[in-house]
Amino acid sequence: MSQQKEVYLVIGGSGFVGRHIVEHLLARGDIVCVFDIVQRHHDVDFYSGDITDESQLLDVLNKTGTTCIIHTASPPHGAKDPSIYYKVNVDGCKAVISAAQAAGVTKLVYTSSAGVVFDGGDVINLDERAPFPEKPFDAYNDSKAQGEKLILEANGKGGLLTVALRPAGIFGEGDRQMMVGLYQAYQRGQTHFQVGDNNNLFDYTYVGNLAKAHLIAADKLSSPSLPASSQETLITDSLKAE
Ligand code: NAD
Repeated sequence: MSQQKEVYLVIGGSGFVGRHIVEHLLARGDIVCVFDIVQRHHDVDFYSGDITDESQLLDVLNKTGTTCIIHTASPPHGAKDPSIYYKVNVDGCKAVISAAQAAGVTKLVYTSSAGVVFDGGDVINLDERAPFPEKPFDAYNDSKAQGEKLILEANGKGGLLTVALRPAGIFGEGDRQMMVGLYQAYQRGQTHFQVGDNNNLFDYTYVGNLAKAHLIAADKLSSPSLPASSQETLITDSLKAE
């Protein structure tokens, strides 16, 4: 008996990471649609909407027959008003979970962030057992942590299986944040500052590897017996994605 083909909805699919995920799904012949507040590409079915409006999302899930949501949407780091982070990353995640359960979606892959365990101090050789910091580094990371918690708590409830991926700083084709920020620092003449003893480490994740990680996570997300410890996964470039 042939298995029903997965229908993917990439939330935030017009963004940097979301677009790479869409391209990877298209490249392997999958059915993929995008839900976003802005449209930047025209080669897949696009649905304009805001994840904080659950009814919009539910309507699109039902219309498309989505079986797997890949949720990459978030306001970018550096917003003036931190309330936008809680609205989109916390209330938005609640709406995504609730709409997914109501529409009978079976898989939900969430793009979290390695920043959810960052408190401003050094983190060396950290793994998924590290707890969220008592004092979050900032509103963005706090909202990502709260969103991730909701997503993981929803695992196995209402027919939905969930996983959260935690990339570090993401680089690659189409990046509109990281390289732009570094270049702005250069233009402002801010490159003569030294932080620490010049041995500081920072982890980066290549966007192509991250896109593959989302597909692998979605593919593996088919057993309700996934151990809780495998539900949140740090993504670094040492990942073997093949
Ligand atoms: P991006 O800004 O390029 O893409 C985000 C997309 O989400 C945009 O297209 C935007 O229009 C959409 N969006 C925002 N709010 C929305 C809403 N309310 N409803 C529907 N769509 C909405 O960001 P990105 O760099 O691709 O980041 C993707 C994910 O990766 C985010 O969840 C981010 O927190 C996470 N992340 C990014 C980095 C990084 O270095 N870029 C690092 C760690 C984690």
